[in-house]
Amino acid sequence: MFVLKVLGPFVRFVKKDTDNPNESKKMAVLIRFLSLVLILFFTINAIGFAIHGTPEAIGGNVALAILYLSVFGLSYRLPKMGTVWAFIIVTTVWAVSLLWLFGPDSSFQIFPPFLIMIFFFASYDKFLIKLLFGLVTFAVYMGMSFLYGDRIPVVEMSMGAHRCIRDSCMFIIILCTCIAAYTFASDSQSLENKLIVYNKKLKEKANTDPLTGLNNRGMAMDYLKQFVKAADEMICSICICDIDHFKHVNDTYGHDIGDVVLKNVANALRESVGDHGFVARWGGEEFFIAFPNINGDEATTVLYNVQKELKKAYAQVKDEEVRVTLTFGLTEYDRNISLEENLKDADNKLYMGKEQGRNRIVY
Ligand code: GH3
Ligand code: MG
Ligand code: MG
Repeated sequence: MFVLKVLGPFVRFVKKDTDNPNESKKMAVLIRFLSLVLILFFTINAIGFAIHGTPEAIGGNVALAILYLSVFGLSYRLPKMGTVWAFIIVTTVWAVSLLWLFGPDSSFQIFPPFLIMIFFFASYDKFLIKLLFGLVTFAVYMGMSFLYGDRIPVVEMSMGAHRCIRDSCMFIIILCTCIAAYTFASDSQSLENKLIVYNKKLKEKANTDPLTGLNNRGMAMDYLKQFVKAADEMICSICICDIDHFKHVNDTYGHDIGDVVLKNVANALRESVGDHGFVARWGGEEFFIAFPNINGDEATTVLYNVQKELKKAYAQVKDEEVRVTLTFGLTEYDRNISLEENLKDADNKLYMGKEQGRNRIVY
């Protein structure tokens, strides 16, 4: 608990936003975190050398700890790329001093890829600028390699101590690479997930009728086009239905009650058609039903059930129960004629049903 109490405010401090309101704080927080890891690393090194009795090495480690502390402090003031550049410069100083002090068999070779990764992820610049950064980093590396490639280490130390420095630097840069790569990967993954969810919602919104929650007409047309494209032998019955005397409902009880009736009819259709088919709001008080793999006779049976279900669906207006009936125009999809002609056929049958007195299924 005590640890949490101390760590809580500290973590909040590390995650604090920068002074620049138009920039994301993510990069600054990462650089702060890396700087803290490196300050800890150099402090432990300095203590190690103090115990070991190597005073020259203490100075170098303390200096680097102070430089990273400055980067940490600057990250609260500088714009994002300023902080990134400060981090890159200090890290380059560290890499060059490793080469200078311990010769080419130090771990300075691992620094260029690490810095390139930080720069590529941090900057929103064009790829060309990033490539230029990569090339300059490589040029600096080659220059160093050319100048100091056969350099004899300045600091005289045992083979074991030399190895210890080389491998500990390697370890800490690998650790920093893992932290940075993890941050970027989890970032882009969470962004990707957010986009997938957002796109799904957008798609749902574009395909759904807002009043009834049913598929809309566009979705119904897509459904039919998919069916037409599918295997030739597949059958499908299609139905267009329309609420009878709906204008009367609106005129008598008002548009809001009309909306409630529409929703009730939609729910009744959705529930009674269930897995047998696909239901959409075709427009106004008209609905569309597709029955894949179901012939006209079987679809008629389903529609009888729909009629039964509709009797149970009513809107309560004071003491009155407002019920409606529907007229259904049903046809089996004929692949020899166009999609529009098939729809027209269903529509004609619906019209015939209205002519014959409504509240019926015409097949
Ligand atoms: P019929 O039996 O011949 O179909 O008669 P009807 O009165 O149902 O048909 P008509 O086409 O004359 O009227 C349909 C009405 O449906 C008119 C329109 O205001 C109403 N309507 C269409 N969309 C909505 C809606 O979203 N909400 C409400 N409340 N009414 C709607
Ligand atoms: Mg109507
Ligand atoms: Mg109508």
